[in-house]
Amino acid sequence: MDNYFKNLSYLDLSPYYGYTSDEKTMKQTIFSHKSNKPLTFYETFQKLCPQRRSLSLAYSSNLTCSGLKYFLDNPKNGSAPTNWSEPLVGLNLYYCTKLKRKDGSDTLVDLIIDNAPELLDLNLSEIRNLTFHVLYRLATETRIKRLCVSGSFRRRKTKKISDSPPRPKGDDEYLSKLESVLVSGETCLKILDIQDCTLLRGLKFFSLSEQDKKDIKLCGMYRRGQTWIIGPNKINWQRIGQCKCINCDENNPKFARSCFSCKKSIRHSYSHKLLLEFD
Ligand SMILES: [Zn+2]
Repeated sequence: MDNYFKNLSYLDLSPYYGYTSDEKTMKQTIFSHKSNKPLTFYETFQKLCPQRRSLSLAYSSNLTCSGLKYFLDNPKNGSAPTNWSEPLVGLNLYYCTKLKRKDGSDTLVDLIIDNAPELLDLNLSEIRNLTFHVLYRLATETRIKRLCVSGSFRRRKTKKISDSPPRPKGDDEYLSKLESVLVSGETCLKILDIQDCTLLRGLKFFSLSEQDKKDIKLCGMYRRGQTWIIGPNKINWQRIGQCKCINCDENNPKFARSCFSCKKSIRHSYSHKLLLEFD
């Protein structure tokens, strides 16, 4: 049992979202045994999976930035230990809606830039009302290859939605800057998943050329610079003709699970999950 966990590179804490909330909860002793030193929630999982490279905290709707810090590589503040044996390359924060709030001095984007420098695959879907500034910083200040923000840039339907504060002044400028960065290829991003981001629908940058339409029909994505874009309209993955491998650009048969050329996993349709390409 012990050996099974210790060799795991992927740790899925999604079912425990009730516990993974704030820093206070992380420090509470909840696992204890008479003969052993009592452990906190976080210490328990660190002991179980010291080699975690990918981590899912999906659906942790109470997770705060101070709580998230405990699962990253190099917490700079507080007393969190830093002895994960492997760097974090995949992080799934699907529906962790509280993370958009500033928590003390911590902001989500600063935490990721400072404490997860090896990250390649980040899922920030359904966090709702992220800022373009966050998106721009992730595209320009990290090495992330696949960024999924599906449903996190939605047009507000009414003005009184508690989790949708008004967009900061000047934030739209960062969208234009992001577009320039994508076109010029000055980003590590290979896949940007913006499905269901209604705020981006109808914008000139995302209007489709004939080539884009062909690409979408073929592989569900279209290209801007070196980056493949998925969305803002939802893609019906049942309807695409082939699956493109983002590792080697080879087109593979529909529903192929791994690339016949380079053998990497090639599915792009999991907006609520991590991909396996970067393992
Ligand atoms: Zn390939």
